[in-house]
Amino acid sequence: MKCYHCGFENVDTAMYCEQCGTQLRQPEGGQQNGYQPAGPYQQAWPPVVDYQYESGKSASTVSMVCGILSIVIPCIGIILGIVAIMYSNKAKKLGVRNGQATAGLVTGIIGLSGWALYLLLLIFSLTMVASFS
Ligand SMILES: [Zn+2]
Repeated sequence: MKCYHCGFENVDTAMYCEQCGTQLRQPEGGQQNGYQPAGPYQQAWPPVVDYQYESGKSASTVSMVCGILSIVIPCIGIILGIVAIMYSNKAKKLGVRNGQATAGLVTGIIGLSGWALYLLLLIFSLTMVASFS
């Protein structure tokens, strides 16, 4: 390898010129900071879209939204809680185990059990009132 600075003929493996000390080659991995060959990278990117994972992600979003709504909306929250748990399971089956799927599962269970308990207490108190009158 010929030094581009002083023209001294160095061995091909030399990192620095023996004559003048000029750096002859980039250290390992140094090329990644500079020029990148465009062709193969552009062909490989974007990668093939994983539709299964994408639908799993949207399922996890639906799960979280339904889960939160299940806590907020009275009575219908039971149905929304079931939907949230179902979509959370769907997301997990599709390989998505993110925070949204977990949040959907947790809020779904809270919404479902919370309103179920509320309705049970309501029915219980109503039957108590009915039995006393
Ligand atoms: Zn040199």
